[in-house]
Amino acid sequence: MKVTSATFLAAAGDPRHLPRPHGPEIAFAGRSNVGKSSLLNRLVGQHKLARVSKTPGRTQQINFFVLNGALVFVDLPGYGFARVPPAVKARWRHLVESYLTGRHTVRAVVVLIDSRRGLQPDDRQLLDFLHGHDISPIVVATKADKLTRSEQAKQLAALRAAGRFEPCMVSAHTGSGIDQLWTVIERHLRS
Ligand code: GDP
Repeated sequence: MKVTSATFLAAAGDPRHLPRPHGPEIAFAGRSNVGKSSLLNRLVGQHKLARVSKTPGRTQQINFFVLNGALVFVDLPGYGFARVPPAVKARWRHLVESYLTGRHTVRAVVVLIDSRRGLQPDDRQLLDFLHGHDISPIVVATKADKLTRSEQAKQLAALRAAGRFEPCMVSAHTGSGIDQLWTVIERHLRS
């Protein structure tokens, strides 16, 4: 898809503040530092749409961006960071689960996995949650440029073996896999 415009729509730190649906939504989720902001920026072709952060876990809000006036990308707060009080984790869960269960406009959730780490228990928990609520996951391994070709193949095979999904592998730095990911996103928008 060619993105001709991308604008910030809203941020919500509380389920009561979610914006009214504006169009079909593709949400993005992953452990903090997985490369979510970098990937969003690369998909949209803007350097500063989502903020690339050096401070994991700082933002606990959902950010909404409108693409081409029609499609909405939803940036869910990162999870899995260490040394976070249980109350903050509970707040994250409440916010994200409220969004995902109450939103008929969500077409798919892009679940980002760091290529070097593979699927972690909290990624699996999210995938189980999506499965339980009939929400399609798009599993994407990030930072492909950090792996050799044979390591990439091994990681893709491990992800394939772990679930019922066909994973993509991308690098926000080199742009590899971005066109394929757009194709998968567009397929979910049509279905
Ligand atoms: P977020 O916390 O998930 O939003 O992750 P960021 O996009 O802020 O990225 C976290 C760190 O990973 C930053 O230092 C990025 O430069 C780095 N990073 C993100 N994507 C890539 C990638 O494709 N390749 C490499 N080598 N580093 C990446």
